[in-house]
Amino acid sequence: MHHAIRTLFSDEGEKTMRRMTGAEIRQSFLDFFAGKGHLIVPSASLVPVGDPTLLLTNAGMNQFKNIFLGLEEPRSRRVADVQKCMRVSGHLNDLEAVGPSPYHHTFFEMLGNWSFGDYYKKEAIAWAWELVTDWWGMEKERLWATVFRDDEGDLPTDDEAYGYWLSETDIPRQQVLHFGRRDNFWAMGPTGPCGPCSELHYDRGPDYCDKKGVPGHVCRVNGDCTRFLEIWNLVFIQYNRDSDGILHDLPARHVDTGLGLERLATLSQGVEANYDSDLFTPILHRIRELRGHSQAEMRQNRVPYRVIADHGRAVTFLVGDGVIPGNEGRNYVLRMILRRAARFGRKIGFTEPFLGEVAQVVIDHYGDHYQELRRRREFILNVIRQEEERFQRTLDVGLALLDTVMDDLQKRGETVIPGTDAFRLYDTYGFPLDLTRDVGAERGFTVDEPGFAAALEEQRARGRASQQFALPDGEEIGLYLRLLEELKAQGRIGPEGVEHPYDETTELETVVLAIVRNGERVNRAREGDEVEVVLAATPFYVESGGQVSDTGILARYEGEEETPRWEIEVLDMARPVPGLIVHRGKVKRGQPRVEDPVWALVDVARRMDIARNHTATHLLHSELRYILGEHVQQAGSLVAPDRLRFDFTHGAMLTQEQLDAVEQSVNDAILANYPLEMEQTTYQQAVSAGAIALFGEKYGEQVRVIKIGWPEEPFSQELCGGTHVQQTGDIGLFRILSETSVGAGVRRIEAVTGRAAQQLVQKRLGVLDAAAVHLGSPPEEVDRAVLRLMAQLHEQQKVIADLRRELARLESEALLRKVQQVAGVQVVAARTRAADMDTLREMTDWLRDRLGSVVIVLGTVINDKPNFVAAVTPDLVERGLKAGSLIKQVARVVGGGGGGRPTLAEAGGRDPGRLDEALALVPRLVHDWLREEQS
Ligand SMILES: [Zn+2]
Ligand SMILES: [Zn+2]
Repeated sequence: MHHAIRTLFSDEGEKTMRRMTGAEIRQSFLDFFAGKGHLIVPSASLVPVGDPTLLLTNAGMNQFKNIFLGLEEPRSRRVADVQKCMRVSGHLNDLEAVGPSPYHHTFFEMLGNWSFGDYYKKEAIAWAWELVTDWWGMEKERLWATVFRDDEGDLPTDDEAYGYWLSETDIPRQQVLHFGRRDNFWAMGPTGPCGPCSELHYDRGPDYCDKKGVPGHVCRVNGDCTRFLEIWNLVFIQYNRDSDGILHDLPARHVDTGLGLERLATLSQGVEANYDSDLFTPILHRIRELRGHSQAEMRQNRVPYRVIADHGRAVTFLVGDGVIPGNEGRNYVLRMILRRAARFGRKIGFTEPFLGEVAQVVIDHYGDHYQELRRRREFILNVIRQEEERFQRTLDVGLALLDTVMDDLQKRGETVIPGTDAFRLYDTYGFPLDLTRDVGAERGFTVDEPGFAAALEEQRARGRASQQFALPDGEEIGLYLRLLEELKAQGRIGPEGVEHPYDETTELETVVLAIVRNGERVNRAREGDEVEVVLAATPFYVESGGQVSDTGILARYEGEEETPRWEIEVLDMARPVPGLIVHRGKVKRGQPRVEDPVWALVDVARRMDIARNHTATHLLHSELRYILGEHVQQAGSLVAPDRLRFDFTHGAMLTQEQLDAVEQSVNDAILANYPLEMEQTTYQQAVSAGAIALFGEKYGEQVRVIKIGWPEEPFSQELCGGTHVQQTGDIGLFRILSETSVGAGVRRIEAVTGRAAQQLVQKRLGVLDAAAVHLGSPPEEVDRAVLRLMAQLHEQQKVIADLRRELARLESEALLRKVQQVAGVQVVAARTRAADMDTLREMTDWLRDRLGSVVIVLGTVINDKPNFVAAVTPDLVERGLKAGSLIKQVARVVGGGGGGRPTLAEAGGRDPGRLDEALALVPRLVHDWLREEQS
């Protein structure tokens, strides 16, 4: 389909759809729903939090999944948002549609309004109509609505929605159509929440049909042509499907809607493709500027331009949400699309990294709404630049490898590059398939693409995290879900779940609510049992934000008794479903019972060790940013009792000076004994006050900020739910153990604090003292004493080497007297005292030079192993005697083997006791050979 770009809409005043920029559409959508009592929430990160079944956020409802499942209470019953989404299934075909297709994107924005058990079909339909017609001025005659009627005849027709389209809007009756399951029924997964949906479609007019004249094409809504565009999907969640496929009415019914911003902008601006809307034109313009292309040149290269614009936008948002290029999961997705963009850049003539420039314009254009892009500008640009440079380097290696593959094929007269090779290039060198295809085509090769797809699928099957929603399944989760619901229903725990004052106390008295053994609920456990215990309240910290779980004891005491009636050692903690906290451990004594009163006692010394490491991690983070720069971002963290591990973004290895400076300033902060302050506030307030929010953490409306420093000017502010010391002096001492690389642009520091640091220092000083005693020098001078010793050692090694050489020469001279004559051929076969192979070789050379025509085999024992060198002068080689075959037979005697050239060969063996026997064989072997030669 090709049209000249033109405006779709007439100029007749009120019938004309309002022309709006992408930003205006976003804002008017949010304003409209704020006016209808909706809470406006920010977009969730592209990295889904707490949902291992999902690679990247791919729909507006992702962040509300737990609410729909009844696991989480909503902050408000009416919510509206604009959600960042990524859809990259890993199927190459999907990615290859980006560019040629005017509507296909990797990254896109979803506008949505949500009702969690609040308003329902009537309001959702009325408001959707009001927004698109009154606010946005869409012509009513161009709008079509669809409602559900089951094509399989099982589910009830959505007469309710149909009725509201007619009663609540003035849409012409003939423009409300019924469709079946494929188009108008939505489900979260094979089981779980589901329901009918109602869609709004926009008719762009018959000119826009791209299937005109295609046999069988019926030009209508859902006719799969480009004339009718679906603009808004209203999902009415009213059922819960159980594992037998039976639908049950939900007690609370929800509304979930989705409206694609790109499509709306395209319609509103009266342009043909999404890329012609202002969501993309600034990016395309910048690419054109960088290349110095004319408009016409840009049009000729439409696909590369679109790919770079789409991928450049996606890459910027992904890195902005903390994704770093890598070889697994979402990191791989980022690497793949970044390299694909770089590759398309080469196609239009970029020879230097340019994606950083593209990211700049994305940040400028989107940064007003998505402020994280502004905040992380430097980080985003660094990561993109580094990855692009890296790709340029592997590109050359990969191209060389591809050449070798093609050379081999050419020799065999083949012209198809095997799928496995194409996949190896793709997998190891980040070569997109089309690059291999292009380069191959230049030399007349094609690629076995089915073979490539098979290899790719195989890998995907191995490593893919499903893109589909899955309910938390498995017996165990089901068990805990039921348990949670039951405890809530009985009022044994509050709506928020198990009470969890982990930061206020390390011991409390409570009651046992449930015991699970071998995946089953039991009323009582016995000594030795491994159990999971649910209490009404617990002070135990549950692993989160890198801080490991607490360990400790659950015990029941009776009256004044010293020893508990029963005792469980807690080894680990878990939160199998939100709201439920489980203690995992072993019954040490007695018989714990449900409903027993119990003391929950955290191992306090261990908790303190952990707290020291956690606070030190915040100090380390802050000092790294101070010393290395603001581009330093936390990329991972482990806070354990014995050490801390901190991964952060930084392009180069730290120098010793930088490491010393970091360690010094962390210790300065410890000595200054700054107070710590915890503040409950809102996410927005915390971040605008400069608090660091970490990537990949899910923050609710209320967040906790840990501030370190004097209250009026804290130098460290982090959103954090972990446990900390009261003032920095509690940490005691901080020592860095190591600094290493853990991937492109990410460094790792491991360190110890408190008791572990003290032990480290004590141990190291002990070693130093012992060394000083051995060296007979004061500890402060150990290094100089060692240097002195090393110099002496070096001198002495030289003397020894000289002596050995002299010895070898004397020994060689003595060997001259041991030359045997075997049928007129000179033979030397002797044991020497050579201490290494070099000496043995030198002796062999020396003898050969002196004797002219000769067969030499010298042996020696090095490190308890027999070794040989054999030499045969060229005149004898010509007669057929080869050093290699000679030495093989000799070495066989000592249980070894060897080989080499005809003139010089070496061998080793296992049995030093048979060295002489082996050497004695030499004259006979020469003799036998001469006899053979004569015969
Ligand atoms: Zn059509
Ligand atoms: Zn923290």
